[in-house]
Amino acid sequence: MAQQKPVICQHCREKFVRVEGNFEKTSKGFYHIDCYKQIQKNKDDTEVLFDFLREVWGDNFINYPLIRKQIKDLTTRNNMTVQGITGTLVYLTNVKKMRLIPKMGIAIVPYHYVNARNYFEEKERLKSTIIPDIVSKTVEVEIKPQQTNKMKNLIDLDSLLEE
Ligand SMILES: [Zn+2]
Repeated sequence: MAQQKPVICQHCREKFVRVEGNFEKTSKGFYHIDCYKQIQKNKDDTEVLFDFLREVWGDNFINYPLIRKQIKDLTTRNNMTVQGITGTLVYLTNVKKMRLIPKMGIAIVPYHYVNARNYFEEKERLKSTIIPDIVSKTVEVEIKPQQTNKMKNLIDLDSLLEE
């Protein structure tokens, strides 16, 4: 059987040989299956990010091209995840009570990314520590950001901790 010609993954630009189940083909070309899944996940995560900004700013104030470019820079050059970026925005808005400035897009994120991650990690740690119910309730109230219920659904805390 003739070997297939290698193709170039449209996401990571690596050359690879297709075998059954290791690739995905779209109108743009071929992708490693994992790269393709990552793109889909980023798309979903980006929607969550924009949902949050729409909630904070309103749709009219969102500079979509700017923010998409910022997301791309942060995820490719600064090694951040889209979920981590959203987590940072949630942290600044709900925990730090900062007012984000629409014309800056998400330029502030790199300055607080690590703090936000530490915050969510600590929150997660408190949650998993076995402490008497009444204490845990007190802690919960103290650190509870506004809109927690809604954001809890939007942000998957576990995946913020993966990096
Ligand atoms: Zn790839």
